[in-house]
Amino acid sequence: MENRICPICQEGMVQHNENQTSKCLQKFIKEATNPVVYASIRKMICPICEKDMLDHNSKQATECVNEFVKEVKGEED
Ligand SMILES: [Zn+2]
Ligand SMILES: [Zn+2]
Repeated sequence: MENRICPICQEGMVQHNENQTSKCLQKFIKEATNPVVYASIRKMICPICEKDMLDHNSKQATECVNEFVKEVKGEED
């Protein structure tokens, strides 16, 4: 697994313990899929394509979220 930068706390995902990982993932999923609600709070860089989450349409955002979750959880197809 690549050491993705956490979009929530800006640290490498491998530096997270299990608790932190699930906390950050939940937050990322929530914020990334509700950009209108959370955009005013902070800018978030997508860990997958390294673009602003606001530059994603909702389909792209969902794809990146799914990809990130898959990588972080280490699930293979
Ligand atoms: Zn984090
Ligand atoms: Zn993305």
